[in-house]
Amino acid sequence: MPDTDGRPSLAVWKFASCDGCQLTLLDCEDELLALTQAVRIASFTEMSRATVAGPYDVSLVEGSITTAEDAERIRAVRDASRFLVTIGACATAGGIQGLRNFASVEHYTATVYARPDYIATLDSSTPISAHVPVDYELHGCPVDRGQLLEVILAQLAGRRPAVAGHSVCQECKGRGTVCLLVARGTPCLGPVTRAGCGALCPTVDRGCFGCFGPADTANTTSLARRLRADGLAPVDVTRLFRTFNAGAPAFAQESTAHDPRTKS
Ligand code: SF4
Ligand code: SF4
Repeated sequence: MPDTDGRPSLAVWKFASCDGCQLTLLDCEDELLALTQAVRIASFTEMSRATVAGPYDVSLVEGSITTAEDAERIRAVRDASRFLVTIGACATAGGIQGLRNFASVEHYTATVYARPDYIATLDSSTPISAHVPVDYELHGCPVDRGQLLEVILAQLAGRRPAVAGHSVCQECKGRGTVCLLVARGTPCLGPVTRAGCGALCPTVDRGCFGCFGPADTANTTSLARRLRADGLAPVDVTRLFRTFNAGAPAFAQESTAHDPRTKS
């Protein structure tokens, strides 16, 4: 809640994740001091062990739900938060750990761990919105720091964040990059992926990996048809859609359509 000096409080929470999205907040080097003058960072264990008890005006939540304990913990975070914002592919779509949703988690744990019987995990990785109401979802793997600041400031000002929902292609054309898909037949998820990265990969001759998840009007079926016509095998279409945002509904549906071995 607002500090004695009127500053609203901000808390940052980690669930199943790599910490990259939390680090994006610390990476706001030029803006961080100004931000701390506008908000009181009350709980952010990536930054400091000193925490202030809630409730909090804004909570940023990174990571997905992969354990029964975390399914309980997110409810406590929700109860302590006026606005709850999920940040990143893990929190908004289940993350790369969501690949278990298309396979056997027992097979995975037996492959990775010497003592899989020590591992207590759910057989799925789910976004925060599958467990509690979410006020805003910010996409990306990791999130973009400019978009992150915009979302925090918008929540504090009581307005909608100005975050685009169009595709990476628009950013790519804006940079004047030659289209890899059209010119070379390079598989690229840009037409169906949400903007925010500045079309980073196409500018260095790599097709888009879909880090920001599906764009608002993503036509994955049309893109998959084009990729197949360019010679991409069905299993490779599945793999392309199954990376950081494999659990996002549009990507999950398209990847499953090309892979008869999936369980869902
Ligand atoms: S969305 Fe990507 S960068 Fe953010 S925590 Fe998950 S894996 Fe890390
Ligand atoms: S290279 Fe990819 S992101 Fe860029 S315009 Fe072509 S399809 Fe879109």
